[in-house]
Amino acid sequence: MQYLYKQFMPIVCMSEMVWKCFRCNLSFKDDQIAEMHKEISAHSVTKVKTIVA
Ligand SMILES: [Zn+2]
Repeated sequence: MQYLYKQFMPIVCMSEMVWKCFRCNLSFKDDQIAEMHKEISAHSVTKVKTIVA
């Protein structure tokens, strides 16, 4: 249940490589979360570098 909730939380104050879903405009810090989202939603996620102030 924690994982399901966590995947909808946007990454804030981060400057690092994360998984990004451009369809949802969501970022995933954890590889497992990104994989889970990819399976659940059938979206493609891309690893990108984020710089969020
Ligand atoms: Zn998505």
